[in-house]
Amino acid sequence: MITETPDLECCTLSKSFDSFKAVRDVSLSVPQGTFFSILGPSGCGKTTLLRMIAGFQKPTSGDLLIKGKSVLDVPPNKRPVSMVFQHLALFPMMNIGANVGFGLRQRGVNKTDIEKQVTRVLERVGLGGVADRPVSSLSGGQKQRVAIARCMVLEPDVLLLDEPLGALDLKLREHMKIELKQLQSEFNTTFVYITHDQSEALVMSDQIAVMNNGEFEQTGTAKELYYEPSTAFVAGFVGEANRFSATIKNRSGDGLQMATAQGQELRGMDASGGLAIGDKVDVFVRPEAVRLSRKEQDISGLGNSGQGKVENVLFNGANSQLILRDQQTGAEMSVALPQTGEFRDLSRGDLIHFRWEHQQTRVYAATGGRNGD
Ligand code: ATP
Repeated sequence: MITETPDLECCTLSKSFDSFKAVRDVSLSVPQGTFFSILGPSGCGKTTLLRMIAGFQKPTSGDLLIKGKSVLDVPPNKRPVSMVFQHLALFPMMNIGANVGFGLRQRGVNKTDIEKQVTRVLERVGLGGVADRPVSSLSGGQKQRVAIARCMVLEPDVLLLDEPLGALDLKLREHMKIELKQLQSEFNTTFVYITHDQSEALVMSDQIAVMNNGEFEQTGTAKELYYEPSTAFVAGFVGEANRFSATIKNRSGDGLQMATAQGQELRGMDASGGLAIGDKVDVFVRPEAVRLSRKEQDISGLGNSGQGKVENVLFNGANSQLILRDQQTGAEMSVALPQTGEFRDLSRGDLIHFRWEHQQTRVYAATGGRNGD
């Protein structure tokens, strides 16, 4: 079987600054034409990893391959990669065409060919006929497209994007998420996109690597990360989740029976395997998994239930978020509430029963490990 060489491979790539390991043994393989995002909180090592791929930072150990060839000894300007920076780095004194043609001029391409290629790439990003205009005449979204055109005219194997939507206002950011994904499909080029914003990564990416403390915690599709997070960090970082600390009291197959410090009984599934009676655990349930009812319900010892007082109703257009205070434990619960349906009129102070199934409850070893460790 012939398998296509990935556009980008990192093989146990690490970067230390003195004794501090900013990136630890990161391995990844990105097939051609993939929108690959690296998602993680501030300081987790995303930029350092991107800068190593671009060639601006030398790895301490490991290898880096583009189209199957190591590029460790290749200087940044000779690597088949291009980079869109957060603040785009467009040249304000040059017109749009000169900005887009900049890299081609550096490469010594002749003027006629530069004009042809600039015209073609500007048309592909939906900015035909603007080459003579100043950069200052563009909107924020159009500037993004010029920044991408300036990279794509160089026909890189891999386009690196360093939080390019970070400086935009919310509405434009929402729009540009869709536009960026469309541009990536249109060019069919491998994009490696770093962000701390999970909604950006979830919407645009074919594959996402979740990074924490310099390491990849999990790589998968948006759905895999959301529905089957393999670590507590991923469960908490990707999407909204209610989180409880508990101790395991009993185990049957993958099913766990737990108790919180406040004495609440919980039931859930061992999400990463190997949990045992006595382990301290983090228990996660998504807000949309929690169901409400006016009456107390018999859930036959399989689920989780309680009664909550409505503390807040956060209206958010199509959905609302209900904040409940569990009357037995005092724990706060977030519940996603569709606008249509019988509970849309709930208001602060109302009492309501809630429940969720054990299959929708994912359990992980708590940070700090087993009791007594
Ligand atoms: P952000 O989203 O805030 O940009 P990040 O995930 O991109 O964060 P990095 O910029 O890669 O994180 O930084 C990772 C860690 O490495 C941080 O603790 C940072 O202080 C450290 N670091 C980065 N560059 C250097 C450097 N040149 N010298 C020393 N430490 C550095």
